[in-house]
Amino acid sequence: MEQPSTFSNRIPVLDLSREIRELKPQLMQAAQDVLDGGAFIMGDNVRQLEREIAGYLGVNYAVALNSGTDALVIALLAAGIGEGDEVITTPFTFFATAEAISRVNAVPVFADVEPDTFNLNPDRLKEAITPRTKAIIPVHLFGQPADMDRLMELAQAHGLHVIEDAAQAFGADHQGRKAGTIGDIGCFSFFPSKNLGAFGDGGMLVTNSGDIAEQATMLRAHGSKKKYYNELIGLNSRLDEIQAAFLRVKLPYIEKWNEDRRQAARVYRELLGQVSGLKCPVETERARHVFHQYTVRVMDGRRDELKSALDQAGIGTAVYYPLPVHKLPVYEAMQAHMPVAEQLSGEVLSLPIGPHMEAETQAYIARKIVEALR
Ligand SMILES: *Cc1c(COP(=O)(O)O)cnc(C)c1O
Repeated sequence: MEQPSTFSNRIPVLDLSREIRELKPQLMQAAQDVLDGGAFIMGDNVRQLEREIAGYLGVNYAVALNSGTDALVIALLAAGIGEGDEVITTPFTFFATAEAISRVNAVPVFADVEPDTFNLNPDRLKEAITPRTKAIIPVHLFGQPADMDRLMELAQAHGLHVIEDAAQAFGADHQGRKAGTIGDIGCFSFFPSKNLGAFGDGGMLVTNSGDIAEQATMLRAHGSKKKYYNELIGLNSRLDEIQAAFLRVKLPYIEKWNEDRRQAARVYRELLGQVSGLKCPVETERARHVFHQYTVRVMDGRRDELKSALDQAGIGTAVYYPLPVHKLPVYEAMQAHMPVAEQLSGEVLSLPIGPHMEAETQAYIARKIVEALR
């Protein structure tokens, strides 16, 4: 079956329409309950969502916030990171990870990644530690946890805070623990395209530390415990009640959706695992990858050619990320050299994936890939 490249028949890189259609009655009811209840900021849904997510992840505290970016900023502030402190992170991530470090006037220091997992390479991280290093931010890129055993060992040996950027890895596991609950603080995003997405911006900070949770709770509400008695310079970073209500409708499905993504990944591997010039994502023994993205590496400089061939065939794909963070205009002056991240940015291509992938759609995508690379 040939698919013309018209908008209506296009295979988008992410398709939320089926999920919305299936959940619409529950979502409409949740919205109506919020409107009828009249509490729009910090109501019952926010408190319940915090409890439910803490329970699901197996962590003591969850603090609902306005975005994943704010979760990172608030995590750094709550950990006491500021002016002149160095924070080591990966250059192969969404800009927000490094932006949060700069936002609190700390210095982002990049350490190169592993080519197979796209995640922080503990050996490179170790080389980047200086007496000014205060924290590390591993990112669980594309839904696959970083090597937390080795990273935690290094952090403990050097007395560093560990803030996990788990924005792309809600529900992923690492040695039986949930991503985001292994370090001191975990940060999640509910941006609509994330594995657990709201219908607007949202985020969450999780921790087992009562002190960190208290700081974060104050920071999200202008640095106050009690209204109009502000003790800290904070932010306005609360999660909207209506988004919390939507997220509570979706949370019970996350395990199934993540398993569906894993199934779609298995199908891709069967179809594409032997295609020469293409490298499928590598899953490590230590972790359960939740495939926020299914990102292949296209070798021999043919990534852009494949991308446009798929576009011609009505298949949406995306390049995450076309420039590693150290090459972005704001960090260019550092002149950092991260050969693996630089090479990956020229090879990566994310294929359509989600909980509702049809096997026939995947077969069509695979056929077009094989044709294009022949
Ligand atoms: C999405 C994302 C963020 C930012 O989350 P927002 O909710 O969009 O602010 C941070 N880090 C990574 C790795 C992300 O993918």
